[in-house]
Amino acid sequence: METKRKLTLVIEPDPILHQVSEEVKEITSDLNDILDEMASIMGQFDGIGLAAPQVGILKRMIIIDAETIAREDKIPLPNERYLKIINPEIIEVSRETCLKEEGCLSLPTIYYTVERPERIRIKYFNEKGEELHLDADGLLARCIEHEIDHLNGKIFIDYVGPLKRKLAISKLKKMKPRK
Ligand SMILES: [Zn+2]
Repeated sequence: METKRKLTLVIEPDPILHQVSEEVKEITSDLNDILDEMASIMGQFDGIGLAAPQVGILKRMIIIDAETIAREDKIPLPNERYLKIINPEIIEVSRETCLKEEGCLSLPTIYYTVERPERIRIKYFNEKGEELHLDADGLLARCIEHEIDHLNGKIFIDYVGPLKRKLAISKLKKMKPRK
């Protein structure tokens, strides 16, 4: 029997946030427990998206607070609050981009404007192992793009230029670890 895991948020600088996550081979109940725990950590820190490497697990899994995002985007609320995305693949990207300030639970207090494609189409598996497609724009697209970056070892300050990046890292290093 497996001991109960307690996941905690990984804060930059941390090498885990710069590694490429592995594909999920099999969707198990253990994996669903991890997704549920990720949702609770995300809620605790008022996030709208969280990727598994942010809780120290290098697997291609993401959780999105689809309901909060739908309110922001002023689109109909989804049936389920959380969107669980496993092994996502971006299959289409719009040529149009947009700018918006972004933050990240792994980089507390850091906010920068990031340019990203406005719309994307992804292919992924849900927590039941069903293969699905999703067209996203607005905050939902941005959030999914940000989280998929995490699965590829990329964080949003990688887009902002070396000086801002350096400033952000030194600010984070000075911060006390969060409880
Ligand atoms: Zn993030």
